[in-house]
Amino acid sequence: MTEELEFDTIILGGGPAGFSAGIYAARGAAKTAIIDINMLGGQPSNYLELENYPGYPQIGGFDLMEKFEEHSDKFGVQKFSMQEIEEINLTTNPKTIKTKEYNFRAKTVIIATGASPMKLGVKGESEFIGRGVSYCAICDGAFYKDKIVAVVGGGNSAVEEAIYLTKFAEKVYIIHRRNELRADKIVQERAFKNPKIEFVWDSVVKEINGKSTVNRITLENVKTKEISELITDGVFPYIGITPNTNYINGQIAQDSKGFIITDETMKTSVDGVYAIGDVRTTPLRQVITAASDGAIGAVYAVKYIETLKEIHV
Ligand code: NAP
Repeated sequence: MTEELEFDTIILGGGPAGFSAGIYAARGAAKTAIIDINMLGGQPSNYLELENYPGYPQIGGFDLMEKFEEHSDKFGVQKFSMQEIEEINLTTNPKTIKTKEYNFRAKTVIIATGASPMKLGVKGESEFIGRGVSYCAICDGAFYKDKIVAVVGGGNSAVEEAIYLTKFAEKVYIIHRRNELRADKIVQERAFKNPKIEFVWDSVVKEINGKSTVNRITLENVKTKEISELITDGVFPYIGITPNTNYINGQIAQDSKGFIITDETMKTSVDGVYAIGDVRTTPLRQVITAASDGAIGAVYAVKYIETLKEIHV
């Protein structure tokens, strides 16, 4: 039977933005819940290490998220993991969210569902997922001991994960569509110094090939248009992220890439609905900016709840 539950604030997504919002909303005396489609922890749970979260010069992503969760537990935030949203009404009052087990009602909803890796969209990519194509070096890196792997992309994720893969692989190619990396300079320098990493500049993957598992990829040099084959046992695409917003069905304004548009209080185009962290249009996607968004969004969600009380007096 479906259980009926009512909250002041429901936060969709239990990553750094969601936990931070939970802490601020609960401390603002709002009855608060976090709902996640997966286990709680969000994307950083898969990061090997973070070196840029203040107060922690070096900490595992999973460990940091555990601290966030314990902190939100301390203020009584209720948690619901493995909850796929079947139906959501953001424009009604209260707002309603239906999952298989629960019918949730809330005065405010804070969206913190983050983003997922983008696909290359080339032949062989879907076919070889789990058989040579992976989007998580930390999860799958150990399978590539003494093998050759190719990481695609030039951002922080690609370069950091390529460095991580050198712990296992004999050789790591970084295939980038330009001849200059986007990653932070400090990360670039580490990669340039690593003898196991070789860069393939100005190149894109055209096809992923293999038999039972990947054994080579077809590359195109974007300047010369030359086609070449690269022998590799694995491909790790890290070409950016796409927002997790499929369930929203056009109820709030999104940009051309699907990221949710907010104002500086994290308010979306719908009253009482806020968006925080990687899921929104923002110039920087980091654990600290997600946590900062969470604080702002929750404070303004609590203010919005106060205005509802005034209307009903
Ligand atoms: P990103 O910064 O957007 O970089 C994506 C990379 O993939 C770019 O180099 C881009 O090339 C390339 N690319 C995009 N589409 C492509 C395509 N179709 N084919 C080939 N290459 C393509 O994405 P990200 O590295 O996943 O990072 C996402 C966000 O998380 C960023 O804000 C990043 O700073 C942050 N992050 C931070 C950390 C950290 O601080 N420790 C770690 C990981 C991620 P161009 O450069 O030519 O555009």
